[in-house]
Amino acid sequence: MIIGIDLGTTNSLAAVFKDGKAVIIPNRLGGHLTRSVVSIGDNGEVLAGDTAWERMQKYPYTAAAVFKRSMGSKKKFMLSGREFTAEELSSFILRYLKEDAETFLGEEVTEAVISVPAYFNDARRRATKRAGELAGLKVERIISEPTAAAISYGIYHKKEHTRFLVFDLGGGTFDISVLELYNNIIEVRSVAGDNFLGGEDFTRVLMDMFLKEHGIEEKELTEKELARLRREAERCKLSYSDSGEHKIVCKIGDREYTSTVSEKDYEDNCSELLERIKKPVRKSLSDAKIRLKDIDMVIPVGGATRLPIVQRFMTRLFEQFPRNEVNPDEAVALGAAVQSAIKERNEAIREVVLTDVCPFTLGTEVSIEKEDGFFEPGHYCPIIERNTVIPASRTERLYTIRDNQKRISINVLQGESRFAQNNVSLAEFDVKIPRAKAGEEAVDVTYTYDINSILEVEVKIVSTGEKIRRIVKGQELDMTDEEIEKRMEELSYLKIPPREQEANRLVIAKADRLYEELTGDERVALEMALRKFENALDKHDDEFTGQALTELNSLMKDLEERFL
Ligand code: AMP
Repeated sequence: MIIGIDLGTTNSLAAVFKDGKAVIIPNRLGGHLTRSVVSIGDNGEVLAGDTAWERMQKYPYTAAAVFKRSMGSKKKFMLSGREFTAEELSSFILRYLKEDAETFLGEEVTEAVISVPAYFNDARRRATKRAGELAGLKVERIISEPTAAAISYGIYHKKEHTRFLVFDLGGGTFDISVLELYNNIIEVRSVAGDNFLGGEDFTRVLMDMFLKEHGIEEKELTEKELARLRREAERCKLSYSDSGEHKIVCKIGDREYTSTVSEKDYEDNCSELLERIKKPVRKSLSDAKIRLKDIDMVIPVGGATRLPIVQRFMTRLFEQFPRNEVNPDEAVALGAAVQSAIKERNEAIREVVLTDVCPFTLGTEVSIEKEDGFFEPGHYCPIIERNTVIPASRTERLYTIRDNQKRISINVLQGESRFAQNNVSLAEFDVKIPRAKAGEEAVDVTYTYDINSILEVEVKIVSTGEKIRRIVKGQELDMTDEEIEKRMEELSYLKIPPREQEANRLVIAKADRLYEELTGDERVALEMALRKFENALDKHDDEFTGQALTELNSLMKDLEERFL
């Protein structure tokens, strides 16, 4: 069985194409979203999702979050004294999702289509594939998140030429993509974004408003008070989309402070953030050479697009209402599931063809002739420009610049700078050429960049027809099959605890956190309820456990509302 997975920075989720449509796979807690947080438990077990998040609040050194940002890098995360890379941590999330899917479907899941941001370069895409392999999933296809979101809207049913824009405002990142559909082909025409703009910044605005109103400096706050304020501000932020009270109540020191923030005030204070959204939008449109008024459809993705302030802003900016038929948190996973069905050649959607874009310009280093006739080395000659639809193949002819020149050096570069040294060198090699007068010998350099982000460089010596080919795999070395196997073995001692007990684990982790934050009678009451629950668990008495769980949950809700 093959499933679609949205491996997100904040949350991850899986979906499957079943009975002619894509459906979200519930996780072990019955929810749709699994937090992209991993924690290593006391007995070396791997915890993921909400339980890991709860543990992170109390024991930050056992847990890691937002590791997606480090995919494809060598950065090591230390969890309970053990080191992991971002792809290994991602593989734990994928293991959870795989297990949940297998329970949901009642059969083994062996393969997945995983989505990645459109701007993910080669190394980061491959790291995502490896994460899948480490989780025991074959990942033949990586799909861009905006493409997946567009597919979830059933874009391929449209007959006419359509241009659309995917507006993805997540927890900490903003990605904008312009896509085009014609003749059943979906193309990502351009991508742009801001890696440091997201829903959290909108929470931050409320925190700042609160601090300013009460004349409190942030540095006066303890870590716990700051965390509490963030929670309260987050709660207030969500109230704008669910008609709750727009209030922040937070105890600082011995005093309780309250702020009521009208939507208008909030919107005014968000103006700078909203301005920042415009820049990548402009860039994506100009790169795609599409005018704003030619956009037929705006697709919102990511939790923060639920904010009415953001929706109004989008409506004003694009002069049309953003679509709302698909849950913005689920669009990418649903689209990935449709794509997995395409891969399986499911009849219902066979006609769809997908393409992607190359997220960076790929080129080579050249020397440029100056006015005085001398050649200046170190310049950049783009071959495949960023946002070119892939698979793409482009050729540039390079000439010798000296008499009797013996070789031409090929420096394969990735980046946007005019100067070679500012771009990333992916590979370097020399090609021997016959001696001749300057400018009489030439090579045709062909770059072919495929859907799996593998670059093939072919250099053909024009006079002899001799060809030299290189496969360029980026800066990071790929793991061999043996290495993956070895690492899988190393990681296999880390067990995922039985999924049936996840709800209980989550409750205990949450109670542990609240216990630390409370004092006095409330703490005692919580401890009693928790003990009762743990006793019931030990006795394997289902009825008693259920009752104790209900009591504990309602007590925690009450305590959280009243004291935290
Ligand atoms: P994502 O990374 O797509 O899961 O988005 C997470 C971000 O969306 C967080 O900053 C959340 O606070 C925000 N978010 C989720 N639901 C809502 C909502 N109903 N209103 C406003 N923001 C939301």
